[in-house]
Amino acid sequence: MRSLSIFGATGSVGEQTVDLIRRAGGADAFRVVALTGGRNIARLAEMARDLRAEVAVCAEPSGLAELRERLAGSAVQVAAGPEAIAEAADRPADWVMSAIVGAAGLLPGIRALRHGATLALANKESLVTAGPLLMAEAAAHGARILPVDSEHSAIFQALVGEDVAAVERIILTASGGALRDWPLEALARATVADALAHPNWAMGQRITIDSASMFNKALEVIETREFFGVDPAQIEVIIHPESLIHSMVGYRDGAIMAHMGAPDMRHSIGYALNWPERAELPVARLDLAQIATLTFRAPDPARYPALRLAREVMARRGLSGVAFNAAKEVALDHFLAGGLGFMAMGCVVEEVLEALDGDLGSDSATMTLEDVQAMDHLARIRAGEIARMPRQESR
Ligand code: NAD
Ligand code: MG
Repeated sequence: MRSLSIFGATGSVGEQTVDLIRRAGGADAFRVVALTGGRNIARLAEMARDLRAEVAVCAEPSGLAELRERLAGSAVQVAAGPEAIAEAADRPADWVMSAIVGAAGLLPGIRALRHGATLALANKESLVTAGPLLMAEAAAHGARILPVDSEHSAIFQALVGEDVAAVERIILTASGGALRDWPLEALARATVADALAHPNWAMGQRITIDSASMFNKALEVIETREFFGVDPAQIEVIIHPESLIHSMVGYRDGAIMAHMGAPDMRHSIGYALNWPERAELPVARLDLAQIATLTFRAPDPARYPALRLAREVMARRGLSGVAFNAAKEVALDHFLAGGLGFMAMGCVVEEVLEALDGDLGSDSATMTLEDVQAMDHLARIRAGEIARMPRQESR
């Protein structure tokens, strides 16, 4: 029986993973090792009982008593806190879903790779902050990383049977997010509710706002470079409002392989779960005659400073991806709390990268987990200071 663990089981990707696992037979078809969650203890306990998990872990130590109480009388072990999450990743499992949001997803992913698991990677922050480290761990332990981000799953599928040397360009599609049709001058006044109204994808709160600011696409450009090892100049971004083409690979003979499907994460999660086979999945089928048209437009650099910053990070290397991601996470916290304007998030990230310029280095090959964690910590402190500074107009 195949064994599996899900990190971030109670989130948007986590829930959709659990849905596919239940449809495939749940605890009768898989040995479920670990499930982890954040604050939604009730849901974590419910999943752990249903899937007969060996261990359930919540992120906050303060949630342990409730988790224990809710799982009383079951065989599920309980634990709490970041170290317990990392220890849960030490328990061998054949397939591990990495679906924690943010930099907190890095450590459990690395620990799972160390026992040779197949890591289904939704947590793009892992590759942005520590791509070379993650790839080296996978290679050292004979582990495999499968992309779950829909764009990267699309690219991965468009590369099946092809020679990577024949790739000329990778074209990442972006929906443009909730604010794509707003006038540029209005963006500075966009609220959290405005940025959360995503036209196509139902996702976690943080990634939905990152979609509106294109910080999500910026992370994905870096993720593409780290995962597929292509030159940054080969990576393009195009706005495709329908979100039906999930990304494309262009080859040197001019052919473009596009991956199409309904905007439903269960496709890429299911592809990673069943790889290298394809299983039937409960996703809507496209009616192309009804869709009739697909549209594309180039992203306006003035609206999306995040895309320019991603290029700078890729040129800079070193620990700049760590600082970029940490500053973005802190800026997003301040936006969510109402203390920072929508467009000011990009300013904060840029100012953090400038402030830390002397500490970022330029060599990524020798980075260690400790370097990554230290820079993450430092960048969060600087970003907090910068985000609290008075700022005209963008607030
Ligand atoms: P989410 O916010 O819905 O869920 C995140 C999960 O992580 C929850 O289980 C939460 O409890 C847990 N969590 C949050 N902070 C934690 C911490 N500090 N320590 C431990 N656990 C913590 O997020 P999501 O939208 O499911 O996204 C998860 C990851 O997948 C992100 O990296 C995101 O970029 C990526 N992703 C998501 C989608 C999507 O459709 N939602 C698509 C592509 C990629
Ligand atoms: Mg994506």
